[in-house]
Amino acid sequence: MASPIHHVIIGSGSAGFGAAKTLRAADQNCRVTMITMDSLPFYQRYALPQIFRGRQDWRELLEVPPAKYDELDIKLRRRTRVVEVDGSNQIISLAHQETVAYDRLLVCTGGRSYLPENLTSQVDLIHSFGSYEAAMQVFKDLPKGGSVIMIGGDMIGIDLALTLLDSGYKVTLIANQQTFWPHDLTAKQQKPLLKALEAKGMIVFSDSRPIGVSDKCTNSATRCVTLEDTTEVLGDVVLSFCGLSPAVEFMLGADVDIERGILVNPELRTSNETIWAAGDVCQIWHDTEKTYKFYHGWKNVRMMGELAARNMLGGHDIFDVNVEDQIGVEPDGQLKSTFWTH
Ligand SMILES: Cc1cc2nc3c(=O)[nH]c(=O)nc-3n(C[C@H](O)[C@H](O)[C@H](O)COP(=O)(O)OP(=O)(O)OC[C@H]3O[C@@H](n4cnc5c(N)ncnc54)[C@H](O)[C@@H]3O)c2cc1C
Repeated sequence: MASPIHHVIIGSGSAGFGAAKTLRAADQNCRVTMITMDSLPFYQRYALPQIFRGRQDWRELLEVPPAKYDELDIKLRRRTRVVEVDGSNQIISLAHQETVAYDRLLVCTGGRSYLPENLTSQVDLIHSFGSYEAAMQVFKDLPKGGSVIMIGGDMIGIDLALTLLDSGYKVTLIANQQTFWPHDLTAKQQKPLLKALEAKGMIVFSDSRPIGVSDKCTNSATRCVTLEDTTEVLGDVVLSFCGLSPAVEFMLGADVDIERGILVNPELRTSNETIWAAGDVCQIWHDTEKTYKFYHGWKNVRMMGELAARNMLGGHDIFDVNVEDQIGVEPDGQLKSTFWTH
């Protein structure tokens, strides 16, 4: 008897988990392995700001109970980093020197928060917020009612900033081109949105870029951000939310085309016929605009994961690349984005 097809998914976020469930629902016999660097099973990343509303217990963030993986016969390998994919021989290398063979591979590795080039030497003074552990560290280091300095303010950051304000913290936003990313807005388009944030109590700097972060501050503050015009912004924690860099470094030997993300056609297949990609890590071909585009956000990435899984099983479903990209202020002062929902 032929051995069952082995589907390997790298990444256990919304795209990866959606794919694993879809594979299992459609084929009871295949092998499904998920490999993730995360220590937790799939959890609701978008709910991380809720930590500041009292949801610090990681169990409350899980999408499904851990027993669900056994029930679905999905092998979940946590705290495991992929360091290389050999796309010709269909072999994955793990950081601890083990190798895993696959028949079909789906890459759902998302992205990491991008830090402006001129601040990389001060990375140790800047908190991140992309994982449960990182978010809990911010929660621990930020005194109750304390102040956050936010550089950039992409949609992930804005979501957090609004929760912080609502929970009694102070937020100073140093706006730049990535503010409201993945929406791509001009300074003029950003203006009414920044005004809406100010109306909610945020302090906004929009004319000067940060040139340094220091922990040698003049008063009791633990962080000081210096702007180009010499203004010094003081706070307890500095966070950078300037969009994402796709996590693709381990794919360089995989025989797939990469620009910033992994390039896929609207069926989410890469240039290697045994590899697909979905979620924040991939750029999808837009035939009308003749370019590859990212489609971020919880709903989009889940849809991609499920679609890629169907196509790995022989389907030819197409991702609708005409996603509406609008952000505005509602009459009640709330920001509303067409795709940034969950
Ligand atoms: C704090 C926060 C709030 C958000 N709020 C919203 C919101 O309100 N609305 C909305 O629409 N979207 C929101 N988002 C964005 C949304 O969560 C992302 O678009 C989505 O999580 C991306 O899913 P993904 O599956 O592509 O990747 P991710 O969820 O980023 O998962 C990537 C996975 O890949 C794994 N991985 C990466 N590299 C490797 C490697 N080398 N080896 C093994 N594993 C690897 C990681 O461990 C992880 O499991 C938010 C995101 C964050 C962080």
